[in-house]
Amino acid sequence: MKPPALAILTACTVLAQAPAIDFTKQKTEILDRYRTLVQMDTTPPAGNETKAVEYMKKLLEAEGIPCQVFALNPNRANLVARLKGNGSKRPLLILAHTDVVPVQREKWPVDPFGAVIKDGYIWGRGTTDDKPHVTATLMTMLLLKRGGAKLDRDVIFLAESGEEADLTGVGINFMVAQHFKEIEAEFAITEGGGATLENGAVVSVNIGTAEKIPARARLVSNGTSGHGSVPRLDNALIHLSAAVERVGTWETPMRLNDTTRTYFEKLALMSTPEKAARYNGLMNPATSQASQQYLRENDPSRWSMLRTSVVPTMLKAGVGLNVIPSEAEAILDIRALPDENIPAFYDQMRKLINDPAVKVEALPMARPASPASPLNTDAYKTLERVAKRMYPRATILPSMSTGASDMAQLRAKGIPSYGIGPASLESDRLNYGAHSDVERLQESSLYPFVEYFYTAVAELAVTAQPPTAAPARR
Ligand SMILES: [Zn+2]
Repeated sequence: MKPPALAILTACTVLAQAPAIDFTKQKTEILDRYRTLVQMDTTPPAGNETKAVEYMKKLLEAEGIPCQVFALNPNRANLVARLKGNGSKRPLLILAHTDVVPVQREKWPVDPFGAVIKDGYIWGRGTTDDKPHVTATLMTMLLLKRGGAKLDRDVIFLAESGEEADLTGVGINFMVAQHFKEIEAEFAITEGGGATLENGAVVSVNIGTAEKIPARARLVSNGTSGHGSVPRLDNALIHLSAAVERVGTWETPMRLNDTTRTYFEKLALMSTPEKAARYNGLMNPATSQASQQYLRENDPSRWSMLRTSVVPTMLKAGVGLNVIPSEAEAILDIRALPDENIPAFYDQMRKLINDPAVKVEALPMARPASPASPLNTDAYKTLERVAKRMYPRATILPSMSTGASDMAQLRAKGIPSYGIGPASLESDRLNYGAHSDVERLQESSLYPFVEYFYTAVAELAVTAQPPTAAPARR
């Protein structure tokens, strides 16, 4: 059925038109900026993120984009740049971290800070985490400014330091605690998503909308110390071991949220009939247990998406082979669902352990508890719409990370935050992904990623123009 002309006209006026950019003409600049950023060694503890800040500040200011630098440590600065809008909508924050994780040079076939181009890949630490995002956010600012687009909202660019192990609080914690008004926004877009390539085409796009909360705990058991030749019922090691066994094999309740429910439903749509039955089976009380068990044995990351998980990671006890220690301890890496009541969860754990000799102590939380970001916002819908347009064969999946990111701090401050990323082969993510011994990105994935970032930001921020050549209606 042909829609009436009026409907077309309405549709045109609703969507903001991004200034048209020929991205094939941007490739040289994108590659140059990206390689320059990869070539900067921004490994903590020195970090030296300030080098990246100075490089980008110069580029942005040369094109008339005002910048501010905020540094708790002069070597580890954060950069904020802002394109002003007319204020009819609240700002959009786009951010990326400039630091990278350390390298073991002897594992690399090429210089890890060389940004070498070989076999269709760009090789180097940070080529996937997080310099594609630094490049995409930087290019988005430059291209929006050059296009002269009128904006409904401010677009704020944050290049943050110290994301990987912000033990000194130089990055997002510093910005949120001391300069929040400079980055306060309605939505944020950053790392934390990705896309999967199969046979040269993107088959799925993940948009990160939630993450689990690290809520680590320490189990401590106390007993009487003594000679190893005299068995005691209150041996601290025996009590601790029993407690570790109970919590480590505890099948915590499965609980889906909007993100994970939609994720498994959509995953089923793109899967083989056998896998689809398994994913859909999670939602059916009659088959849920069998589906969960399959994931537990064969797909532990997806099993972890279903529940708060408890994983023992460290044990400490004993000073000599003939000495009964008076104390023994274990560390539990607990990853809670975004809506978990953590004190109540610890109480459940105490009940399960059911041993007054074993105490459960909360360890300090590195990141705040953060709610899942909704799927019905303009930001999510725009990211989904642009992904569908760019990759017509792809299924778009909202996703919950079992790990943690700087989105936690933003979500905790009430900013719905969404993660996206460049496309890669599953095998490259496993063998050459973020934090791996050797990191690399397919060059052909870099350009569409920058285009995706730019287009989504433009459609969220650029003022809608009435169509210039509306057909005359008679
Ligand atoms: Zn990262």
